[in-house]
Amino acid sequence: MRKKLIAGNWKMNLEWNEAMTFFTNLIQFEKSNALNADLAVFPPSIYLRHFFELASDKESSIGVGAQDCSAMNAGAYTGEISASMIRSLGSSYCLVGHSERREYHYESNDVLSEKVERLLENGVTPVFCCGESLEDRESGNHTFVIDNQLDGTIFELSEEQFSKVVIAYEPVWAIGTGKTASPEQAQDMHAFIRELIHSKYGAEIANSIRILYGGSIKPSNANELLSQPDVDGGLIGGASLKVEDFGAIIYSCQ
Ligand code: PEP
Repeated sequence: MRKKLIAGNWKMNLEWNEAMTFFTNLIQFEKSNALNADLAVFPPSIYLRHFFELASDKESSIGVGAQDCSAMNAGAYTGEISASMIRSLGSSYCLVGHSERREYHYESNDVLSEKVERLLENGVTPVFCCGESLEDRESGNHTFVIDNQLDGTIFELSEEQFSKVVIAYEPVWAIGTGKTASPEQAQDMHAFIRELIHSKYGAEIANSIRILYGGSIKPSNANELLSQPDVDGGLIGGASLKVEDFGAIIYSCQ
């Protein structure tokens, strides 16, 4: 039985005081509700250590994660943050291949593969994002695109490495647009991805890998999306920036 994971991707939002207040309230929410899901927050990296320390002090099990990492180990790469630094800040997760990174930073399958390798070498769980554009969806190419995004990256991993990855299916046309995949569309794509994993790595791994859905999840649609049999949680952008909305989404997993 896969435990759901509800993760908030804050992107480049919330200043220090707002962020600390939010995280303190989220810990409070976690403590006052018996929750059925694992929780994680992906704030801007400069907050990671503080969040990790706050969570440890309060004995919270909310995980923290980075939104990106370098494909390199260390060296003269101004502005980059390595996987080992992310680990040393107490982060358990890191996003890889979010559509905004693919689009604005031209991240290719090769670069994404290197990032996943660096994270696994350092004991950080990659949350590997994949998803098709509207054009691909409308032309019926969506399964082909996802197959290609997985084939050239995490499907190169050994069984042992692959079993440590979390996948997030995020149709690009649904990210930040207010348009959501229907529960049927989400379930179909998650089942398709699980079937690909099954063919490549076998039933045990296919049944244990968590596949999150992301794309305009909000309190009003969370329950239907998150109750699909192959949807193992959510990666939430906009609605993870308000503790009431994020809390309502987490609560819909009960
Ligand atoms: C995201 O950025 O990963 C995301 C799913 O954003 P939103 O929920 O705002 O669509």
